[in-house]
Amino acid sequence: MSIQSRYATILDRIANAAKAAGRSPKEITLVAVSKTWPAGTVLEAYAAGMRHFGENRVEELAPKRAEVEAALGPGNGITWHLIGPLQSRKTRLAAEHADIFHALDRLKIARRLSQHLEEANRPSLPVFIEVNISGEATKTGFDLTRWETDAAQLQAFTTTLATIRALPRIEVSGLMTMAPWDAPPADIQHIFHRTRELARRLDLPLLSMGMTDDFELAIAEGATHVRIGRAIFGERATG
Ligand SMILES: *Cc1c(COP(=O)(O)O)cnc(C)c1O
Repeated sequence: MSIQSRYATILDRIANAAKAAGRSPKEITLVAVSKTWPAGTVLEAYAAGMRHFGENRVEELAPKRAEVEAALGPGNGITWHLIGPLQSRKTRLAAEHADIFHALDRLKIARRLSQHLEEANRPSLPVFIEVNISGEATKTGFDLTRWETDAAQLQAFTTTLATIRALPRIEVSGLMTMAPWDAPPADIQHIFHRTRELARRLDLPLLSMGMTDDFELAIAEGATHVRIGRAIFGERATG
């Protein structure tokens, strides 16, 4: 199957999932996760109509973006999403090359990003804060595994969130989470549901959740950004 036909299938599935949830598909941004695929594959996806691309490593995003811009020119309408967590020594590269960051998991990273953005005279960076709701899926993200019952856990996060929001060049857009890949669908949906309730409590409008295996469950629970790789590009050799 071609990238174009897989893309059409995914758009249909997103539209159906949105409809089933009483939502408009227009509320949902498809981030095509191009990690491990070369710039030529991104150009193919671009020709098929995709405009949002996701990379989990900034050292892969930066040169791929440069290659794509060399081919298409700078006003190509692409938004580059950095979806994987950042190490502090890579914050400068991220500040210079990412348009949106989905995996902010530490205050220190937010501080460094804000500082680099100021130095580079770049506009504010929209970020999703990564939250660990399941306790299993990943070790990254702020620990909110018991936020409904553990007032201290929620309070600690709220305080950090306020500090991040006060940084000059960081614009907190929403929450991001990963569900355990091997859990039953009902458990995965419950993780997404709890993430949505948390975002509601914090008054954050956007939700980055859902991947190839679980994006329909995420859309049922209000996802505004789904990050889909394999269902568009096929199985990755690595990564
Ligand atoms: C790789 C990756 C995805 C996409 O995963 P698929 O299973 O290929 O859809 C989504 N989010 C993050 C953070 C990733 O690293």
